[in-house]
Amino acid sequence: MLKGKTALVTGSTSGIGLGIAKALAQHGANIVLNGFGDVEGAKAEIAALDVQVDYHGADMSKPAQIEDMMKFAATRFGRVDVLVNNAGIQHVANVEDFPVERWDAVIAINLSSAFHTTRLAIPAMREANWGRVINIASAHGLVASSQKSAYVAAKHGIVGFTKSVALETATTGITSNAICPGWVLTPLVQKQINDRSEREGISLAQAQKDLLGEKQPSLQFTTVEQLGGLAVFLCSPAAEQVRGVAWQVDGGWTAQ
Ligand code: NAD
Repeated sequence: MLKGKTALVTGSTSGIGLGIAKALAQHGANIVLNGFGDVEGAKAEIAALDVQVDYHGADMSKPAQIEDMMKFAATRFGRVDVLVNNAGIQHVANVEDFPVERWDAVIAINLSSAFHTTRLAIPAMREANWGRVINIASAHGLVASSQKSAYVAAKHGIVGFTKSVALETATTGITSNAICPGWVLTPLVQKQINDRSEREGISLAQAQKDLLGEKQPSLQFTTVEQLGGLAVFLCSPAAEQVRGVAWQVDGGWTAQ
């Protein structure tokens, strides 16, 4: 379905981003990876799916580096057809204790980076009259939790941004949608489980059980494969009139 198309996935060296990149590659898309950490491992996983893969190490908190990444993708593959804004970080603290530098980093990486990639991707999508912008928001794009003010603000922000872009492109073949996962067992969440276990003096297994029990009625993690499946659907012709949604994949978290 996506043969000949190119998907750029930010923050795709691990977790959800890598899972979505793999799902798009399984449907034939060439992939531009981004993020830190095990770059070679991620590249090898995508290359094994028999598509072309390349990597750009732009720091999503730096607009000039994002511009360079978008130019790189256009030069390497012609244009970005599917843009997945996924890179994200978390910081947990009460608002009065929240380090200003951490607030700025969360807003820059989780929200402003999507503005920069999207503004730079849309012109070529308009020319082709086809494009998919998929923003990885969160259940925290729809409801809040304490001690996550920057994350919740950024995720609510990206849900709003998704809708504006959907309206601006409504008469074209470009769609813009958000995916709102609940808990997914990735390094980002494993860190919160580790912190909880240490803080409360409980086992990792108990910390994991408590984390799920607090928010996610299914008591099961959402998987990166499930999120990949939804991203593939959003790229399909069946999703052509799905525009501006914030689609929960959260085991019932936001149904409560
Ligand atoms: P992760 O930590 O496994 O992956 C984050 C990715 O972003 C990595 O590839 C990392 O290298 C990259 N990254 C971090 N800072 C970056 C920067 N400055 N520039 C470029 N890349 C950077 O996390 P994840 O859980 O896979 O999260 C991915 C997205 O999904 C995030 O936006 C997160 O908010 C969202 N999300 C995660 C969950 C969950 O439960 N894990 C739930 C809802 C939403």
